[in-house]
Amino acid sequence: MFQIDQIRTTFPLINQGSQQSPPLAYLDNAATTQKPLEVIQRIQAYYENENANIHRGIYDLARQATDDYEAARQKAKNLLNAAKTEEIIFTRGTTESINLVAQSFLDAQLKAGDEVVITAMEHHSNLVPWQMLCKKRGASLKIIPVNDAGEVILEEYRQMLNDKTRMVALVHISNSLGTINPIVEMTQLAKQKGIPVLIDGAQSVSHMEIDVQALDCDFFAFSGHKMYAPTGIGVLYGKAAHLNAMEPYQYGGEMIRTVGYEESTFNTLPHKFEAGTPNIAGAIGLGAAIDFIQKIGLPHIHQHLDDLLQYATEKLGNIQGLRLIGTAQQKTSIVSFLLDDVHPHDMGTILNESGVAIRAGHHCTMPLMRRFGIPGTARASFAVYNTKAEIDQLAEALKKVQAIF
Ligand code: PMP
Repeated sequence: MFQIDQIRTTFPLINQGSQQSPPLAYLDNAATTQKPLEVIQRIQAYYENENANIHRGIYDLARQATDDYEAARQKAKNLLNAAKTEEIIFTRGTTESINLVAQSFLDAQLKAGDEVVITAMEHHSNLVPWQMLCKKRGASLKIIPVNDAGEVILEEYRQMLNDKTRMVALVHISNSLGTINPIVEMTQLAKQKGIPVLIDGAQSVSHMEIDVQALDCDFFAFSGHKMYAPTGIGVLYGKAAHLNAMEPYQYGGEMIRTVGYEESTFNTLPHKFEAGTPNIAGAIGLGAAIDFIQKIGLPHIHQHLDDLLQYATEKLGNIQGLRLIGTAQQKTSIVSFLLDDVHPHDMGTILNESGVAIRAGHHCTMPLMRRFGIPGTARASFAVYNTKAEIDQLAEALKKVQAIF
């Protein structure tokens, strides 16, 4: 059963915020989510009772910490339905996961004249790493255009794929528009031509079930902090065949097998990609967040977020002068909008006075904003603890904005 009141009380910040005047309506979840007690307490318990460095200890405490860390990897493996646990690499987050693939996978293969394909709605972190690599190698970055609703134009994508395409990197859910991209079909189209595919799952992993084996993507990246886990931890899933063939990303302790002054050899997966002491507490916190999500059930979460999106779309759609940016048929939990000619930052400031926390700006998708001919949007984004009452609070606050301007 999806019990919103119970869910809200399990998030201390949401719980306290609801007792403020005006109550806090936290609607900036695409930036980062709040953390439930399960996650906070798990991290505290780790530091209070289990803290030790991992993988090299021969005493009980170190073994315990190692088991906890590796158990979190197992949970991430199950969350994505990866074939093997060693295909899960812990990183700092989506950004680092994508940079790892750009530098350790694609750099070794990319030549002048090659092409890398991304969508027009990528977050800068799934754009700039490919752009820099293309510049370095004399390759070109191809952009799949989007229509006015904020949907990729599949026909253009189909025509873009050719024997020069070395990589396709796609955002699953747009953090600016809420568009859910047809990644099954898009991945298939690339795979039919033998082109590797990376999916940026930063916004999707907490919303819907992911099966990397069914999807047959080569890489999948996500961040813990957008799925109720701490900051500074994330995951790169990669097919073992690729990861085994790739150069290490960083060098140092943990990732080596033998070291001499002239030569070193490297550890097996996943350790080859985890140089230095990792974010042990973060990984354990991520494991607790995965448990939290699975306890509620992703289908229930998805349904709740869809209900909120539908409600918000109707409610905000009724405000005269409000223009929704991103009206894709397949969309979830993010509403981007403009109101009359009020600058989004001014809107954000006035909403804050009514207790409403939204994001205003380009949302790290500057080229997409240019595509729509706007400097940015105001964005409300929902998570498992949000309610229709908070959307009402947003709508009321927007009326105040209109009254002021
Ligand atoms: N991709 C998308 C779609 C995102 O929403 C974000 C975060 N806003 C990122 C990538 C980058 O994630 P992080 O900052 O956690 O590395």
